[in-house]
Amino acid sequence: MKRLEDYNKTLPIVEVYTAVQSEGSRAGYPTIVVRTTGCTHRCWFGEGGWCDSWYTSIHPEKGAFTFQDIINMYDVNPHIKEMMLTGGSPTMHPALVNELTHLAHDRGIFITIETEGSHFLETDYPINLLSISPKFSNSVPKVGISTPQGDTVDEKMVKQHNKLRLNYDAISKMMTYHSDYHLKPVWDGEDEASLEEIMGCIKMLDIPQDKVWFMPAGDTREALLKSYPKLMDWVRDNGYRFTGRPHIIAFDTERCV
Ligand code: SF4
Repeated sequence: MKRLEDYNKTLPIVEVYTAVQSEGSRAGYPTIVVRTTGCTHRCWFGEGGWCDSWYTSIHPEKGAFTFQDIINMYDVNPHIKEMMLTGGSPTMHPALVNELTHLAHDRGIFITIETEGSHFLETDYPINLLSISPKFSNSVPKVGISTPQGDTVDEKMVKQHNKLRLNYDAISKMMTYHSDYHLKPVWDGEDEASLEEIMGCIKMLDIPQDKVWFMPAGDTREALLKSYPKLMDWVRDNGYRFTGRPHIIAFDTERCV
């Protein structure tokens, strides 16, 4: 697979920082977060708000870090053996992701990649964990509303959002190719039509209950707290898994947490 040639070149990476993994099956581990910029989608979750990393998707910032910056971060944090590769949509950057699998292989680092599943990605070493959050119709922005930086949503933006949304073929291939996965659907605990769609996806991909982590919708503490109790009760009664978003509860809208 394609490798990176220059470790000192600025890459489409907007953040490299230490944190505690707070979502899904690796919750609780100290980790180094590598956040790429660029995404083919424009998610808006109604009351749950815009994509919480809209600065990598709807209004993408330019990259500011090199591969060497990532290496340096592991050098100064030798106790951390996890990586949270997130975005944006990291699978848009195959050479970078492939290079990260080499780094992880050499240093015994466990990589979790967050992906909406739009692109199938091969790497020289398999990724340890895919954290898959397919984008359902409850993520489609509404024509006429304002984006985080004040643009108005038009038909073109909606079309762009829907283009690679729910790419089952790519998701299945990713699940087969890489080491492990879990599905992390976002739901407000209320909207039955969305739940039906999520269940259709679980069935289509034949995913066992213990690999499905339902996550409340919301990009602020206030929005999240509305869906937490409803979703927790629902998971309790239906046998799936619940994952909170403790970094938002702890730090609200702060970045790099
Ligand atoms: S796919 Fe993820 S990064 Fe892209 S817009 Fe949706 S929530 Fe944001």
